[in-house]
Amino acid sequence: SAEEVLALRKQYLSPSLFLHFKKPVMIVEGKMQYLYDERGRRYLDAFAGIVTVSVGHCHPAVTEAINHQNQLLQHTTTIYLNNQIAEYAKELADRMPGNLKVVYFVNSGSEANDMAIMLARLYTGNWDMICLRNAYHGMSIGTMGTCGQHTWKQPMPQVGFGYHHALNPDPYRGPYGDDGPRYAADVADLISSATPGRVAGFVAETIQGVGGAVPLATGYLPEVYKMIRAAGGVCIADEVQTGFGRTGGHYWGFQRQGVVPDIVTLAKGIGNGLPLAAVVTTPEIAASMASRLHFNTYGGNPVCSAGGRAVLRVVDQERRQEHCGQVGEHLLGRLRALAAKHDIIGDVRGAGLMLGVELVKDRKTKEPAKAETATVMEFMKDLGVLMGKGGLHGNVFRIKPPMCFSRQDADFLVEVMDLAIS
Ligand code: PMP
Repeated sequence: SAEEVLALRKQYLSPSLFLHFKKPVMIVEGKMQYLYDERGRRYLDAFAGIVTVSVGHCHPAVTEAINHQNQLLQHTTTIYLNNQIAEYAKELADRMPGNLKVVYFVNSGSEANDMAIMLARLYTGNWDMICLRNAYHGMSIGTMGTCGQHTWKQPMPQVGFGYHHALNPDPYRGPYGDDGPRYAADVADLISSATPGRVAGFVAETIQGVGGAVPLATGYLPEVYKMIRAAGGVCIADEVQTGFGRTGGHYWGFQRQGVVPDIVTLAKGIGNGLPLAAVVTTPEIAASMASRLHFNTYGGNPVCSAGGRAVLRVVDQERRQEHCGQVGEHLLGRLRALAAKHDIIGDVRGAGLMLGVELVKDRKTKEPAKAETATVMEFMKDLGVLMGKGGLHGNVFRIKPPMCFSRQDADFLVEVMDLAIS
């Protein structure tokens, strides 16, 4: 029973774990955009295992690819040749713009960002990194310092050395609205005041995920990329949440801002839930590591690679980029209409199926409605819809379902949200 599992978890698992709901939900089965609890109750999943189940829970094509590889070979490491990892690397690189042609496989988003920062430092010979306030890039010792929320640094406050946080270009809460280049001026100030004038790089999500689905203000990245490159640094795009078509219309989130990064980090949606992640970079940057030994026991193992390849095929065959764009636009419109009805909704934002709804006590002061957010989410769960929550103040609904989410699902979510808020 859920009670027994909770008791085991309390006794034997990390005391740092947290549960999403006051009355916990136990999930035993998943099918595309639906989850089922131990009593067979169905939930519409609008959070996809924290934005990870990209093409759908147990998508038949992914399951079949994993099952097939599982019976053939589960593990070798890269000390032998195997076709899966090599063909997969080519398929990923083929989907990247510019000269992003070298792939490192790792196992999590934190590892991918660790690797990206190491590459940036080795390639440039510089140390300082510019990051954004309100960012999230991981929980490893290397990435904790890049995070721009105090919560993620609390375990080890010393990790901040060499990381400088620029004003995040938040169109809703930031001082300059949607004027990206004005926010970029803060990066120039940071480079000249907090670093030796030369930097290793800049890392950012194109839509801040954990930070509450905050899209970077229009025109921000092109300006910042110019400044970083002029200061000798490289530009890292964290596509852990925004990749694989989720933001609609494009394969990658950075394409929304018309930039081409030097290093891209991938995780979560890349494997539809398998422990798989990657760093993609240019041959020049990869060459800075070539003389050093690099090894990762599980990275790109045959089963994960087979699953990751199936994800790419599904995204292409089922035209998930277009689908996310169309359903996302419909959902955005319906959520905006809901905002016209409920004053507690301060902002509706995002792109594709990566949307945020921010609740405030007062639209003028924008005072966060934190307790109300938790209450509405709990009601929605009782009515059969699971959503995420985030933001610096814990007052943003994060709507990031598996990409098979339909218009009907979007309508159902909005009806349930309307009822729950009322
Ligand atoms: N980058 C982003 C944007 C993320 O959202 C996350 C996870 N929430 C990570 C990196 C870290 O990924 P992982 O938990 O797989 O280490």
